[in-house]
Amino acid sequence: MSTNHDSSPLTGLGESEELDYAVSTCARCGYCKQVCTTHPYGNGFEAFSPRAKVHFLNELRNGRAELTPEWVDRLYQCTTCERCQEVCQTDIPLVELWEAARAETVKRGLGPMPVHLKFKEFADKNGNAYGEPNEERGRWMLPEHRPAEGAELLVFGGCTGSFKMPAMLRTGVSILQRQGIPFAYAGPGELCCGSPILRTGQIDSAKRLIAGNLDTFHRLGVKQVVTPCGGCSKTLKHDYPRWAKELGKPWEVEVLHFSEIYVRLLREGRLKPKKAINRKITYHDPCHLGRSQGIFDEPREILAAIPGVELVEMENVRADSRCCGAGGGVRANYAAMANDIAEKRIKEAIATGADTLATMCPFCQSSFAPLLQKMGNPLQLVGVEELLLQSMEE
Ligand code: SF4
Ligand code: SF4
Repeated sequence: MSTNHDSSPLTGLGESEELDYAVSTCARCGYCKQVCTTHPYGNGFEAFSPRAKVHFLNELRNGRAELTPEWVDRLYQCTTCERCQEVCQTDIPLVELWEAARAETVKRGLGPMPVHLKFKEFADKNGNAYGEPNEERGRWMLPEHRPAEGAELLVFGGCTGSFKMPAMLRTGVSILQRQGIPFAYAGPGELCCGSPILRTGQIDSAKRLIAGNLDTFHRLGVKQVVTPCGGCSKTLKHDYPRWAKELGKPWEVEVLHFSEIYVRLLREGRLKPKKAINRKITYHDPCHLGRSQGIFDEPREILAAIPGVELVEMENVRADSRCCGAGGGVRANYAAMANDIAEKRIKEAIATGADTLATMCPFCQSSFAPLLQKMGNPLQLVGVEELLLQSMEE
């Protein structure tokens, strides 16, 4: 076990004793290989399986392997979907391991993939992963949306929600407003949550974004942060508390995905969906919302509360859900693979006989939307919250 602690204990193989130990416990059962989202794209080679990657990383830490460009490429062929982790027989925190391995490739100047450098450049320059002018971060807002200074609840739009797929964010805010729940909004003060930068191993840049957001939360004095995005909510819930500690900044907020707010309001009888939405709907569990946060029941509870909705489940749902193919920097660098993964998921949705594919993550939505269009729109793609709002309307 390494004792080399010359920088952050959260990054780099050999700098985390816990990960260092975990990597040596692999039972080589291969369960992870059977469920891996990206292994089928490695032409059947074992080297593309999570099992082989764990073995390689164990060899690397023991000085018996070298981090070659081929291995770096394989380490980036992973959507961080957590399917492998879900079935791991020795409970290895595999996604944390993949991220640490990627951080190590960056540290050694061998990673990330060139296209991932764009996220970092954009984030460093613009404060968002898309290179959009961050002063326009609030352009998703409707004229009737009225953020309230001093509110305890902060709406965190996320980069995809704010710039690319605003429907879920916009709808969430409309629901808050109808319920008379005051919300704060940081506008250009909101930076990328850091997820795409962290997941691709670019720790220094991610740290700057996280520090900026932590300062904003503290400055605004908010107690809760809510976001429509599976990736942002995972990052804010799981990564921020430990980075706050590492950066010596206060961590004083409860993080919520919008689905958690809707369910609270439904259970309290404050939200009353009335109008029938006569649709046959199948629900896609976003990896970072479902497996990462255990949010499986909430979206289904919301759908069940909407009159007229018939939920038909896909073959692989909840902890076994298939990935949309976009995460972990895969869509950016391996577009053909990402599209094929998304197409398989869409076909699984079509097989249910549903007319609508619902999800609760703008990033999954951005993965499915262009493909559905290419396929002639066999399903309508919506956010669960959009159905909820429609059902609340007179
Ligand atoms: S996180 Fe997903 S894509 Fe990555 S190794 Fe695990 S199962 Fe495969
Ligand atoms: S499931 Fe876990 S223990 Fe089994 S081969 Fe994969 S990493 Fe090793």
